[in-house]
Amino acid sequence: MLWRKKRSSIEIRNGSKVLMKADILRQKFLDFFKAEKHKIVDSDSLVPKDDPTVLFTPAGMNQFKRQFLGYLSGFTRVATAQRCLRTDDLDKVGKTPGHHTFFEMLGNFSFGDYFKEEAIAFAWEFLTDELKIAKERLWVSIYKDDDEAYKIWKGKIKVPENKIIKLGDKENFWPSEAKTKGPNGPCGPCSEIFFDQGNAVGCGRPDCGPACNCGRFVEIWNLVFTQFNRREGGILEPLPKKNIDTGMGLERLAAVIQGVHTNFETDLFKPIVEEVALGVARSPKNETLYAIADHIRAIVFAISDGVLPSNDGRGYVVRKLIRRCSVHLWGMGIEKPFLYKLVPAVAQIMKVPYPELLRRRENISEIILAEEKSFISTFHSSENLFNEKFNVFINKPDPDQVGKIAFVLYDTYGIPLELTQDWLDKHNIQISQETFNKELEEQKNRSKLQSAMKGDVFDIKELHLAGAKTNFSGYAKYEAKAKILKIIKENAPVKKITKGEEAKIILDKTVFYPESGGQVGDTGELVKGKNIFQVTDTQKFDKVIVHKGIVKDGSFKTSDELKSCVDIERRLSIARNHTATHLLQAALRKVLGVHVQQQGSLVAFDRLRFDFTHFKDITRDEIDRIEEIVNSYIINNDSLKTKMMTLSEAKKQGALAFFGEKYETKVRMVLVGDFSKELCGGTHLDSTGSIGIFKIVQEGSVASGVRRIEAVTGTFAYKMIKDQQRLISDVSSVLNVPKENIIAELKKGLAYTKEIEKQLHSQKLDNIQESIPILLKKAEAINNINIITAIENNRDMDLLRRAVDMVKQQTNNTVIALASQDGPRALLVIGITPDLLARGLDASILIRAVAKVIGGSGGGRKDFAQAGGNKPENLEKAFQELKNIIGNLK
Ligand SMILES: [Zn+2]
Ligand SMILES: [Zn+2]
Repeated sequence: MLWRKKRSSIEIRNGSKVLMKADILRQKFLDFFKAEKHKIVDSDSLVPKDDPTVLFTPAGMNQFKRQFLGYLSGFTRVATAQRCLRTDDLDKVGKTPGHHTFFEMLGNFSFGDYFKEEAIAFAWEFLTDELKIAKERLWVSIYKDDDEAYKIWKGKIKVPENKIIKLGDKENFWPSEAKTKGPNGPCGPCSEIFFDQGNAVGCGRPDCGPACNCGRFVEIWNLVFTQFNRREGGILEPLPKKNIDTGMGLERLAAVIQGVHTNFETDLFKPIVEEVALGVARSPKNETLYAIADHIRAIVFAISDGVLPSNDGRGYVVRKLIRRCSVHLWGMGIEKPFLYKLVPAVAQIMKVPYPELLRRRENISEIILAEEKSFISTFHSSENLFNEKFNVFINKPDPDQVGKIAFVLYDTYGIPLELTQDWLDKHNIQISQETFNKELEEQKNRSKLQSAMKGDVFDIKELHLAGAKTNFSGYAKYEAKAKILKIIKENAPVKKITKGEEAKIILDKTVFYPESGGQVGDTGELVKGKNIFQVTDTQKFDKVIVHKGIVKDGSFKTSDELKSCVDIERRLSIARNHTATHLLQAALRKVLGVHVQQQGSLVAFDRLRFDFTHFKDITRDEIDRIEEIVNSYIINNDSLKTKMMTLSEAKKQGALAFFGEKYETKVRMVLVGDFSKELCGGTHLDSTGSIGIFKIVQEGSVASGVRRIEAVTGTFAYKMIKDQQRLISDVSSVLNVPKENIIAELKKGLAYTKEIEKQLHSQKLDNIQESIPILLKKAEAINNINIITAIENNRDMDLLRRAVDMVKQQTNNTVIALASQDGPRALLVIGITPDLLARGLDASILIRAVAKVIGGSGGGRKDFAQAGGNKPENLEKAFQELKNIIGNLK
């Protein structure tokens, strides 16, 4: 690629000293806690799995919500370097040394294991011993009532008293002010560690300290001691198992260690900032360069985690960030796509923890480029848009309405308020900033409501399931004995259910596959003698499998022994589609390229749907090849194997994973022949031949950069082919030609129809020609102006316009209004001869007045305007209104 510049290797220096790079800091952190018996867990995706309460992963602790609630996971000490994305402080990004959208959070966690004493000691040791930060430069804060933390800092760590400051509910309690304001749930005091940049930075006051917001003291680490459970009314009761949750921004730590005053001067940002500065024409402001350097990281990582620019939810955040950058770049004189060129720089900086960015950089660049192009073209057409939307306000001020429209332009077209404001100022149009802000606020609330969906994660507690577990034994069997552990009716446990009652049943073990990984849940029956519970769906909550359904016969009670029987036919149909989905993914990567990544999937009994990244249209030939390859795999009848292995082993073997579990000790790999390896928990066939046939039903785009294929297999595919064949025979018998002549016959018929239409049209034109003299005779002089009005039915807008043109050519000093009734619609056009234009007459103003009468609206140019309405019965009245207006002209 042309734009890939050669970059010299980056060395971070402060004076002559080579400083510790962020990569090393990150590694040192993880190594330090590994040595302290912490399990090192991979960063979770920016798109949290199973947590509908947040759009993006906002902090390190989010992926451990379950562990915090007491669910066991086999480990109690964890450390991570979590990638995070937040947009709450978007407007501050670039303007301050340390606000970001995307950042990495280093954190160590304890779930009922160690508490304050160790957490504080670990943090202190890491900073002062491992990183060699001078102790004198560190200050700490504690929660005002937390004597325990105070004693540890002062007595054990020996931090001087004057460097331990006490802060209140707002700063040092998590969640902030939870004591008084909630929410209910786990909470506790915090303790923060600050770095003093020295009195050359900040306000210079002698009493400056961590509580001062002048910037001299930077908070580097926040230790949260989750020790209470808040109950209704602000009651704090001690948690039986206390947790530790800490967070340290890698960017800020790097700034401290590298001796720079903003995070943007660290090696995490510097190469990006420099690349932007080199690329822009005008001398740029640091805050703009910094904002772009920040946003591009967020954009690259969000896209890499599968979020593509779109109009809602996560996609909208990405779109907004790209647009903000475009606006910044525009302000610096770059009017062509540019942002996409920064992707390699980001990939290069982050290649150690995220090597996949290097592989995907071209795909990510393409996605950004397409988005930039489309926004820039909106930008170019903004002048027209402004004219269209705001012209009416030039002589008719309405600041409120202008504010509302400015918001619509911002929200749907991404046009920033500043740009709109510029144009409005130029045209002396007033805007209410307040209205704009109000609309913005309302929109924010709406999206908050949308994102605060109800999650199942915390429902488990409500179902009283903690600790329960169902063994799944349905990979090889369709039937098994089991015992009822719990029966739940309307979210409460019950002892017994009888005929006709709907309920959820939990068994100790089951052959029913619960909905997961896109595969739908099994259906079937639970049978105890003559008692039958019909299972209509199967779901999984944590480690528990729940059978939803209705008692068809008899009754069931807890501890009953029964037989669980899956609907075998349906299960096999699902397996056909699931195995076929794996074959499809392999074929897609073969035909389109290895950039194809799964974005979503549905495996039902009657069809499969597969969404994946691909940034071009897919040609008919490609579709054919994909289908052919999948069918060739089927014909070869390759066998399927499953293997359990560790995640790192699976990665080594190059398995494809989508939302793979990260800390299950073992993962399940499904292998087909030698061409497909996927981490997958689903139920499959033994060999590909049982799929029968694979047929693609539909292919299309679902979002920019995401394609969707829908397909059918087995008997469903067979039936589809049969139906299509029947359709073709029906067509051939209607046309009365053999099948192979259908196309030729249809082409012939269409050509004939076209010819007839052409003749009809020219006949209509002849009719118009003939009607002109009659129209001219209808002229009526009002107020010294000739007015011609007529209703000419069966004419479309185009024919009406032609008639008006012809009349105008043959006369002057004339206003002509022609109308036509088209079913329930009325069409109306008004033309004005050029000599009248000179006298100030305006067809577009006339049409607006008249259009109201026919229940519609209209517009156009000064010499010709048109309208449509839904009251054709009022056409004569409309003409009368026109005459009145002309009659009243002065
Ligand atoms: Zn200060
Ligand atoms: Zn699968």
